[in-house]
Amino acid sequence: MITVLSGGTGTPKLLQGLKEIVDPKDLTIIVNTLENNYFSGVYVSADIDTVLYTMSDMINDEFWYGVKDDTFITHDRLEELGCPELLRIGDIDRATKIQKTQLMEKYGLAKACEIQARNMGIESKIIPMSEEDSEIKIVTDIGELEFHDFLIKHQSEPEVLDVKFSNVNPAEGVVDAIRNSDAVIIGPSNPITSILPILSLEGVRDALKDTYVIAVSPIIGSGAVSGPANKFMKALDIDVSAVGVASLYNDFLDNIVIDDKDVNLKSQIKQIVNKVTVTNTIMNNLGVKKNLAQIIVDSIP
Ligand code: GDP
Repeated sequence: MITVLSGGTGTPKLLQGLKEIVDPKDLTIIVNTLENNYFSGVYVSADIDTVLYTMSDMINDEFWYGVKDDTFITHDRLEELGCPELLRIGDIDRATKIQKTQLMEKYGLAKACEIQARNMGIESKIIPMSEEDSEIKIVTDIGELEFHDFLIKHQSEPEVLDVKFSNVNPAEGVVDAIRNSDAVIIGPSNPITSILPILSLEGVRDALKDTYVIAVSPIIGSGAVSGPANKFMKALDIDVSAVGVASLYNDFLDNIVIDDKDVNLKSQIKQIVNKVTVTNTIMNNLGVKKNLAQIIVDSIP
């Protein structure tokens, strides 16, 4: 059994490779819920939906958001009616979100995800990190912003001074999944807003100490492959490099995969993490995704 900790862009790319080389039944994916909120009358759990669409081969993997070849009839009509949406939600994607909202209000988020995963023919277990909503604020040079306002309205442009989020309780099954796994993979997701929220859940860091954990660095050189991870790390005084990523996970990490371009950092990281694996981590095609997944799986003791 392998458990993967995931956000909504980098790790789903790795999941595309992983699901080709391991039996999806042997995968549990614990997904970040920090950004979850209501938009346009529906509950949006963007990272969970990205993982659902990735595992059911529906993902729009140009944007890592929404369904490929979706239409935007409802979105466009809302705009015509003078009710523009902050998030551009496609029609098929909206159906998923409407159903999730209804299921969640009745059974809670974890059960809603379980039902939707089953309906989509997904054999892996997909668990939200928490049933509770988090409070998140991005403190910037233009004031405190809601996460989606920072990302979408302000296009991640303001200077980030701090990232603050509230602690929530783990959903049922999160800590047990880690404890009962042969390995935990921390995918290349935003360390601050996708992975730290999962690591902050009660019992998670301790469970990780007792399990083989391998992480893939989302930082290559001194920048993120995409998104604002570098700004968030800088704001929290964490070195924006694979070294900084390793230092965030050093109390439980057994192996870190860094990119070929960072081979010069290997000896420095070796002082923090037992094993450092160097390979191509830029997952721009299925071959690279499968190769990276295979290296990770082969490393499991
Ligand atoms: P979000 O939920 O959309 O913020 O997405 P994630 O947290 O899953 O992922 C964002 C992180 O993935 C960024 O820090 C990127 O640097 C990283 N990332 C995206 N694609 C790749 C890739 O192909 N390789 C590596 N190493 N990192 C990647």
